[in-house]
Amino acid sequence: MKLATKLIHAGQHPDPSTGAVMTPVYLTSTYAQEFPDQHKGYDYSRAGNPTRKALEDNLAAIENGKFGFAFSSGMGAVDAILKCLKPGDEVIATNDLYGGTYRLFSQTFAAYGIKFHFVSFDDMDAVAQLVNPNTKMIWIETPTNPTLKIIDIEACGNLSKQHGLILVADNTFASPWLQNPLDLGADVVMHSATKYLGGHSDLIMGALITSDETLAEQIFFNQKSTGATPGPMDCFLALRGIKTLHLRMQAHEKNAAAIVDMLVSHPRVGKVFYPGLESHPGHEIAKRQMRGFGGMVSFELKPEFVGDSQRLMTRTKVFTLAESLGGVESLISHPASMTHASIPREIREKSGVTDGLIRMSVGVEDGEDLVADLKQALEG
Ligand SMILES: *Cc1c(COP(=O)(O)O)cnc(C)c1O
Repeated sequence: MKLATKLIHAGQHPDPSTGAVMTPVYLTSTYAQEFPDQHKGYDYSRAGNPTRKALEDNLAAIENGKFGFAFSSGMGAVDAILKCLKPGDEVIATNDLYGGTYRLFSQTFAAYGIKFHFVSFDDMDAVAQLVNPNTKMIWIETPTNPTLKIIDIEACGNLSKQHGLILVADNTFASPWLQNPLDLGADVVMHSATKYLGGHSDLIMGALITSDETLAEQIFFNQKSTGATPGPMDCFLALRGIKTLHLRMQAHEKNAAAIVDMLVSHPRVGKVFYPGLESHPGHEIAKRQMRGFGGMVSFELKPEFVGDSQRLMTRTKVFTLAESLGGVESLISHPASMTHASIPREIREKSGVTDGLIRMSVGVEDGEDLVADLKQALEG
């Protein structure tokens, strides 16, 4: 089946007892057993719930994996895969990570004896040189947040296979509509389903998908043992959101392209970060591994206007000044003081997150309204 069909149907069947076409929300913590430990596959909802099962099967299908796992947040998903490691293990991660992931790695897991190397993946030879007998995992995010750098997933997959490592790809920014890392050599795909998968800024959720049976067993064990599992209502909302992922992603991208067109020729705008631009250093890799360039756009004002970067965000009327991304509505944010405030300035600036950087999650409103709104904010 093609992806658009899977987005709508995978994991879901009309309810056998009533014929309900939409997956029921099973608001139950426990399940009647016929005899001690004899049941219909569910005993307690931390371990499994039918609404969550439908979502997990859907997630596996849309990322071309065998096993899907849903979590109560993206960070819950990151936690569950990191707990497959032991003290002394080492992880090589991009230096351009989502702020919350960087915090969990550098503060929580580092304190439990896992060592992290945060590096740029522009130079794969430099990444390869960090591999040693303790290295167990490579962690990438592509496109990265918020400078939209592109990492070559296949090259990371080759390095990872050569040394028997686990390659994890955070696919939140691309979504499965634009990119399927498992097909390119990743072992695990991670999502903040809070973003494009949910798509309506009305839930917090995470996901892991893999085809590796051993990893799937460990992830399931960590999921039910730690308990960062989503409730059935949130699973229902995620299933509903995923049904329109393809329609939304196409609209996000069309509007993003119109905004980029305006930005690159605007006299107050300096650098524009968008993988669809031919001048973007990752453009060729993006064309190879993605089916489109997505709805995230970042830019900087020219040096003489940089002082206006934060105030500009208070002048938009359609774009809302807020963290997060991937919803139908357009958002604008200042990474240095918002999403990336927990990353030390030297590290942040090295990866391009300057004080003048502005990030947008371009929504699916009318494209002309968005362009006009941003223009008046730039010129105000
Ligand atoms: C939001 C986000 C996360 C964290 O997910 P939550 O659902 O907020 O816990 C991780 N990675 C990326 C790229 C994100 O955008």
